[in-house]
Amino acid sequence: MRIYDIIKKKRDGEILTQSEIVFFIEGYTTGDIKDYQASALLMAIYLNGLNREETIYLTEAMMHSGDMVDLSSINGTKVDKHSTGGVGDTTTMVLAPLVASVGVPIAKMSGRGLGHTGGTIDKLESIPGFHVELSAERFTDNVNNYGIAVIGQSKNIAPADKKLYALRDVTATVENISLIASSIMSKKLAAGSDGIVLDVKTGSGAFIKDIEGSIALAKAMVEIGDGMSKQTIAVITDMSQPLGFAIGNGLEVIEAIETLKGNGPADLTELCLTLGANMAMIGGAAETFDEAHQMLVDNIANGKALAKFREFVKAQDGDDGVVDDYTRLPQANYKRAVKAPQSGYIAAFENEAVGICAMLLGAGRIDMSSEIDLSAGIQLTVKIGDYVASGDVLATLYSNDKTCLDEVEQKLVAAINISEVACSEAQLIKAIVKADGVSRYDRK
Ligand code: URA
Ligand code: CA
Repeated sequence: MRIYDIIKKKRDGEILTQSEIVFFIEGYTTGDIKDYQASALLMAIYLNGLNREETIYLTEAMMHSGDMVDLSSINGTKVDKHSTGGVGDTTTMVLAPLVASVGVPIAKMSGRGLGHTGGTIDKLESIPGFHVELSAERFTDNVNNYGIAVIGQSKNIAPADKKLYALRDVTATVENISLIASSIMSKKLAAGSDGIVLDVKTGSGAFIKDIEGSIALAKAMVEIGDGMSKQTIAVITDMSQPLGFAIGNGLEVIEAIETLKGNGPADLTELCLTLGANMAMIGGAAETFDEAHQMLVDNIANGKALAKFREFVKAQDGDDGVVDDYTRLPQANYKRAVKAPQSGYIAAFENEAVGICAMLLGAGRIDMSSEIDLSAGIQLTVKIGDYVASGDVLATLYSNDKTCLDEVEQKLVAAINISEVACSEAQLIKAIVKADGVSRYDRK
């Protein structure tokens, strides 16, 4: 087999066989196939597409390019969650204990933040003592004993994807549904769970901004999961504004605890209940969505979800006293109120710019070697649709670096669009995509 012939075949719009796709992925991972030929093939795929079978073969080949996590010694149906990436996305810290509280085991690997997006592992590390690196044995034991463990991603998950994603990034071949779907699913499937719930973000702050494109991506990922016998459900959710109010590691820990106490922001709470109900259904804790949803609502009200969070924090050596005393979390030396420059309605957020503001305050990494300030971030006070008078507080900045405050204040004001005409609130849940079809949620 020659890579030249595979490139030519895809260039001419033909369908690749499984062995051709495996040949490409194996050769590219070892370095036998060079970047210039991989780039040409990626562009041919970008232009001519992959069909359902080719997409599944590509996913499978990338999944097998590195470690396959074996969760078989953990009892029960393990369900994982993945988000396509948001700003201030506090979800996992709420969702993991919430779903574990109804008896579905959570054995999760999460990532660190980079650029304008945060990562659950950094957020958890703002809890004093919390360990994100556990031995494989302790990870398994914690899930079997407490029903929950969250650890850092192992380095060698789907290395073929890591290499290809970096190449796509510099060859203008990222935005292809089959390539995105196989990239995400290869990593999720290698992580070993029995079922997957995907949070596919849509809107101005998302990878794919239009609803039809987001549904197409969700369908492609559900088809891959289904094709590999892992029940997969995708929820399409709005990313036209940051989720909740807090953006930044320690600030998001507080927001997550408040949500588990029943005092969380409406959008974050609704998202966790919707994703969680789907996870609980896949995990066999309930027959219907409504039943699952009610169980989760009950466990927030009766304190069981919060108790699970405490147990989880203690089991990973963290200080569970943070639940009652937020001053045990890292504290920023400087605060700055950001005020509305004019009266009007909050119309839009430039999410990436908001995420970059949080990064500049110290909450995020410019590259993987940067240090982060776990106390830094932004606490917003407004959502799309709110009315503000000139001089009202839009947000509070937190940082230990006094010198960045002026610049970030200016950037944040520019990233929040205030309109003279009234705007309606954003609708959070747009659609749910399952193997048997799409349900769209119209505005109530
Ligand atoms: N996230 C991924 O992991 N891969 C893509 O291709 C796009 C987003
Ligand atoms: Ca948040």
